[in-house]
Amino acid sequence: MLRAPRLAAAVTELGRELVKAEIRRAQQQARTGDLDPVSIVDVVTAALPTAAVTLTRVLNASGVLLHTNLGRAPLSGAAVRALAEAAGTNDVELDLATGRRGRRGRGALDALRAAVPTAGDVHVVNNGAAALALAVTALGGPGRTVVIARGEMVEIGDGFRLPELLESTGTRLREVGTTNRVTAEDYARAIDESTAFVLKVHPSNFVVSGFTSSVPPADLRDLGVPLVVDIGSGLLTPHPALPDEPDMTTTLAAGADLVTSSGDKLLGGPQAGVLAGDAELVHRLRRHPLARALRVDKLTLAALEATLRGPRPPVVVGLEADPVALLARAERIAGRLHEAGVDARAVRSVAAVGGGGAPGVELPSAAVSLPESFADALRAGRPAVLGRVTEGRCLLDLRALPPGDDDELAALVLRVGALA
Ligand SMILES: *Cc1c(COP(=O)(O)O)cnc(C)c1O
Repeated sequence: MLRAPRLAAAVTELGRELVKAEIRRAQQQARTGDLDPVSIVDVVTAALPTAAVTLTRVLNASGVLLHTNLGRAPLSGAAVRALAEAAGTNDVELDLATGRRGRRGRGALDALRAAVPTAGDVHVVNNGAAALALAVTALGGPGRTVVIARGEMVEIGDGFRLPELLESTGTRLREVGTTNRVTAEDYARAIDESTAFVLKVHPSNFVVSGFTSSVPPADLRDLGVPLVVDIGSGLLTPHPALPDEPDMTTTLAAGADLVTSSGDKLLGGPQAGVLAGDAELVHRLRRHPLARALRVDKLTLAALEATLRGPRPPVVVGLEADPVALLARAERIAGRLHEAGVDARAVRSVAAVGGGGAPGVELPSAAVSLPESFADALRAGRPAVLGRVTEGRCLLDLRALPPGDDDELAALVLRVGALA
């Protein structure tokens, strides 16, 4: 059976074991009389997956630019090509000129250094949490304390709490201020000989408003201990659309000694954790034994470098999209669907950056509005489409969807419409 031409082709794509399992299943059905043996190849071919991976592509029509459940930042075409090229063997840690061992990931690190001109040095680890874990482990540890404001004891999501991560390294937390307010004096009073550093954490997924105050990095620079700032999102330089979102370059210039962030939020790259700051501190982190356990692979380095050097990544394109152009796209898609008999219309909507940054920021957007029943059916399709349900309608928001996916989106809606 494995040598039947159609199944042999499947073996090349999916591997022998996967195909064999489906053949066995069909043969068993034939033995029990539930299947005509001449149909085995047809049945197996129909039952086989199209790829040896169960991750399913999802078109992000949710209106959330950075959707954690959808894998956060989608990569740019340049980053995808770099990733595919890097999947083979390459000179990630070899100097081709001398034939000796080379500085691992130098291309990505050089690009990062160039993108954050105020950084003495930079380092990359697996994710934002790993960046923080490395900083706390290398600079703190048992018997040492980290000073942090009560209002910055953040849960990132899925029950994952930064204070617990910090304490898991044996470092004690010295909380200062109250939930809503903290002053520079609160920090100054808490510092003693056990203080490893002062930590500021950007509240990246909530806002506190009303009678509040927090202390900017510039007012914490002269406390006699290092200032570490977790900015969360990974903006490298200020972005005009997000005036309240901290960025690496400015935060370092304001006096932070070390800044940590994610690579797959507003930076728009692969999952990674970025550390930038004082050259001596970064060197200490890089030489710490834990750094080896948090090391990124050649795929991450390739995608990160292409994100930094290459064209704007999709997250930034989505962030900077013109609402007028978004509405024109929605009208075009809705027009086509309407002609085909689907109850579709273009509407204005409001999109969000997402849990990855800029909480509370509303991005004017546009969507294709469909009957509510489309939401479940589109999510069940392959590829799947994730919209959002508002006031009894299924909205397909275009802010997070690359314009190149519009035709495919329309086709997927038409397919669901035809079944309805
Ligand atoms: C997202 C986030 C993290 C965690 O980063 P990951 O890349 O998800 O590990 C840490 N701190 C802040 C402030 C964040 O927003």
